[in-house]
Amino acid sequence: DPSRVLGVAASAPVIAPADTLARRDAHVAAAQEHYYSRPPQIERGWREHLIDTEAQTYVDVVNNVTIAGHAHPGIVDAAARQWTLLNTNSRFHYAAIAELSERLAALAPAGLDRVFLVNSGSEAVDLALRLAFTATGRGRILAAREAYHGWTIGSDAVSTSIGDNPRALETRPDWVELLDAPNPVRGTYRGRGSAAAYLADVDARLDALGADGRAQFAGVVIEPIFGNGGGVLLPDGYLAGLYERVRALGGVCISDEVQVGYGRLGAHFWGFEQQGAVPDVIAVAKAMGNGQPLGAVITTAAIAEAFEQEGSFFSSAGGSPVSARVGVAVLDALRDDDLQGNAQRVGALFGDALRALGTRHPSIGAVHGMGLYLGVELVVDADLTPAPELARRVCDLLLDDGCIVQPTGDHKNVLKIKPPLCITAESVAWVVAALDRALAAA
Ligand code: PLP
Repeated sequence: DPSRVLGVAASAPVIAPADTLARRDAHVAAAQEHYYSRPPQIERGWREHLIDTEAQTYVDVVNNVTIAGHAHPGIVDAAARQWTLLNTNSRFHYAAIAELSERLAALAPAGLDRVFLVNSGSEAVDLALRLAFTATGRGRILAAREAYHGWTIGSDAVSTSIGDNPRALETRPDWVELLDAPNPVRGTYRGRGSAAAYLADVDARLDALGADGRAQFAGVVIEPIFGNGGGVLLPDGYLAGLYERVRALGGVCISDEVQVGYGRLGAHFWGFEQQGAVPDVIAVAKAMGNGQPLGAVITTAAIAEAFEQEGSFFSSAGGSPVSARVGVAVLDALRDDDLQGNAQRVGALFGDALRALGTRHPSIGAVHGMGLYLGVELVVDADLTPAPELARRVCDLLLDDGCIVQPTGDHKNVLKIKPPLCITAESVAWVVAALDRALAAA
């Protein structure tokens, strides 16, 4: 019970009238109802558990933000202390910002040591795009289908997998050039194993643009593993090959680490490491704040300075003293609680158990991803026809059983398995048993 541990009095359950909820956030409510028949009202959380207003507990399997777990004492303490001192982005308060920036730079590849703090993943991607534009003096960007980068105008323009957001721009701005998704499971590239075939298509695409067309590109933005696209690993060597081509054009390579980075892969801290590639710009958020609005763009001095010459820009609340203190406390938790190590150990157990479940349930077409970045692809047949209705039913049954999972992927048939990185082997075993029951019943 978190209230005993933290000394916080539990509030009496308050059920907001339906019309109040609808007024407050109609599109969020609609998104939840899209996934679940009876979305719960969560009141609080503890580690990998969530507790609703009727005191039912759930294992939080879908959370790709709260990596250190809900109500992490060290993070709560850091936030509370900083709130009592100062929380405004006074231009004369540097301590927390400097400490977080130093620690991020130390985690980034050599040469990426300039940090901008922002409030969200969408803002980080927008800023990363802006850095690419100013550093190159060019105005077009390469991106890939099936990716999701955010819901602001810039990040949405480079997204096609609309993920959890009910709307996407219907008209894509002409500054975006979309590559086909390097997805060997379905679509244009189904069954292709090697990166060479995908890269040959990138070459053909770039050739078709002509020299003048190619010279307009400021760079590429891509997720090293497509998170909302379902977690399918890129073919080995694809990212390094793509970066090589973009650099040959004089462009900047942006890695969107918002969902994949920060230790979730277990074997790697950053997603691009899984592909053996090194970007020029990293966009990160979600896990960075463990739920507090916080993101960052990490880049080279040359790229940062080109942007700074444009003028003095900053985000009013991005990297506020509380957010930055929380950011430091999250990095402490990563180290002290060995969250990345746990993602590797428990993630391997989780992946193996899900694959074993697949041998008994033919509706599991594949298990994608690695560490605690997993996707269970539900299908109708051996041809891997997506089963979105089944996915929704399974998520509803899991919810009744006490486990929050959500469908993702372009066909909404992939169960998104991204729990807090502190999840225990016991909770994993329980979730796998619950999924077994749900698949049998559905
Ligand atoms: N990039 C990726 C890969 C994401 O998964 C998301 C969010 O799901 C974003 C960017 C946008 O982040 P935010 O929701 O913090 O704006």
